[in-house]
Amino acid sequence: MPTKLQACTELLHGGRDPARHYGMVNTPIYRGSTVLANTLEEWESRKQPDNPYASYGRFGTPTTHALEELVANMEGGYRSLVFPSGLAACTHAILSVVRSGDHVLLPDSVYGPTRAFAQETLARFNIEAEFYAANVGAGISAQLRANTRLVYVEAPGSGTFEMQDIPAIAEQAHKAGAYVMMDNTWATPLYFKPFEHGVDISVQAATKYLVGHSDALLGVATANQDAWPLLRKGAHDFGQTIGPDDIFLALRGIRTLSLRLQQHWDTGVKLASMLSRHPLVARVMHPALPEDPGHALWKRDFLGASGLFAIELQPMSSAAFSCFIDQLQLFGIGLSWGGYESLVLPMGAPTRSVSPYPVKGQLVRIHAGLEDSEDLVADLQQALQRASDCLAVAPEMAVSA
Ligand SMILES: *Cc1c(COP(=O)(O)O)cnc(C)c1O
Repeated sequence: MPTKLQACTELLHGGRDPARHYGMVNTPIYRGSTVLANTLEEWESRKQPDNPYASYGRFGTPTTHALEELVANMEGGYRSLVFPSGLAACTHAILSVVRSGDHVLLPDSVYGPTRAFAQETLARFNIEAEFYAANVGAGISAQLRANTRLVYVEAPGSGTFEMQDIPAIAEQAHKAGAYVMMDNTWATPLYFKPFEHGVDISVQAATKYLVGHSDALLGVATANQDAWPLLRKGAHDFGQTIGPDDIFLALRGIRTLSLRLQQHWDTGVKLASMLSRHPLVARVMHPALPEDPGHALWKRDFLGASGLFAIELQPMSSAAFSCFIDQLQLFGIGLSWGGYESLVLPMGAPTRSVSPYPVKGQLVRIHAGLEDSEDLVADLQQALQRASDCLAVAPEMAVSA
């Protein structure tokens, strides 16, 4: 066998060991709290220096460990831990490194619930969250303080898809003695290798592409060797566990991740290109488009793009906007993304603390699913045509409501 396997091969062969499970191809669903030992000697032998109760369902079962091992390998980190949702992975990974009196830096384009957690919940523990412009690069040094414990990155940013110069930010953060944590959900570990770019802890909302079928909520945090003891201690102390069925769904989803992502990427770029030429579309936010301000960074650091991007429509009334959204046949209206099905999400103006993101028209987030790309192009075109027809019949609809 070749010593270094391609990523898509690794994700088919990792996290399973048929010889240990009666030849079953997939790691079975283990249910259980108690794990019995046969002898006192076996019981004592399970104890680890940092965990005297290593065999107990709360610390995971073979099903849990299969997923953790597979994701750690994909991300290129040391070890992983699963959490009951993507947000739980973000917040608990943050809590595992910060202490009272610390200062934390987050990008202005960070995922909204992570922003809320940092501003409200961390503040209750005397931890100060400050935001920085997503495009800050090495300029982050001006915001680093003696008590900065953590610099959080997320690229592209949620909702508006700004890219970040992660290696430049990580270099400055490490010089100042801070950890670097990344939300790597958009690219997945297949299209961005966080630990090769200076990240210490990488978080996945596995709910999205890893699970891939919109049927389970799950998060995974992966640490390098240096940050692992903190992450493990923080996570174990909170006592969260995840049902084995959801973990099984994530393991199953990952087996097809590379095929699915290729099509999400391809279709997403096709839709974004068509939309960028449409007269009702004011702006497309997608780092894989050559004209996108983040394109050069995406090309330098990323190995691919997912199917999630956003558009800003020309200003129109909410009635005309409804004409567009309600006319869509193949795109569902809903939260989350990363499943096989296409989605649109009408978004409000982005919340920003330090780098205003002015929008005049409606922002719409689009997730390109696995339907035929020509069908999706046609669906968006006919819905935009419907909005044009509404505007022609009632020109006052063009005025932003
Ligand atoms: C969805 C999402 C999360 C949270 O995942 P949940 O499983 O819904 O809690 C975190 N970060 C990003 C970038 C997301 O898109």
